[in-house]
Amino acid sequence: MKFELPKLPYELDALEPYISHRTLEFHYGKHHQAYVNNLNNLIEGTKFENATLEQIVKEAEGPMFNNAAQVWNHTFYFEGFMPGGVGIPTGRLLDKINAAFGTFDEFKTKFSIAAVSVFGSGWAWLVLNADGKLEIKQTANAACPITEGLKPLLTCDVWEHAYYLDVQNRRSDYVSAYWNIVNWHKIENRLS
Ligand code: MN
Repeated sequence: MKFELPKLPYELDALEPYISHRTLEFHYGKHHQAYVNNLNNLIEGTKFENATLEQIVKEAEGPMFNNAAQVWNHTFYFEGFMPGGVGIPTGRLLDKINAAFGTFDEFKTKFSIAAVSVFGSGWAWLVLNADGKLEIKQTANAACPITEGLKPLLTCDVWEHAYYLDVQNRRSDYVSAYWNIVNWHKIENRLS
């Protein structure tokens, strides 16, 4: 199977001023595309040639894992946004956030600290664990929580390529801006 770069559910300038057109041009158009191209080249002629993306992420190692997981992670990240965001979560998702973290603001603080404090390149995640409870996780490089049996709901890419063109080294500025474009309806739908 040849993987394709998934279409974004918004235009490249739609997340401004929080994520610029220029950042999306590179992050989606160059980096995400490169992971797709690398993966297609790597799986050719291997047992993963006809596998699903999830199978490759769960079973492959080395460069094949890295590129497959980066395709999965970036698709998941970009699909979690919408122009102008949704403000705050509601319904079942808000109930679970309150149960796990006390309040939405406390969750935001803890998730932001997790995102800002990833050492080097990686990701911050909100996941549903096997007990049906929410947890915040950090992963390094391409690592993806689906390999640990966790169900991701929300992620923040903290590789420098996600923010360097907009805010240079100021990762915390990027994480502050990030909350303005989260599509909480989409995140809540991921619970089911
Ligand atoms: Mn990235």
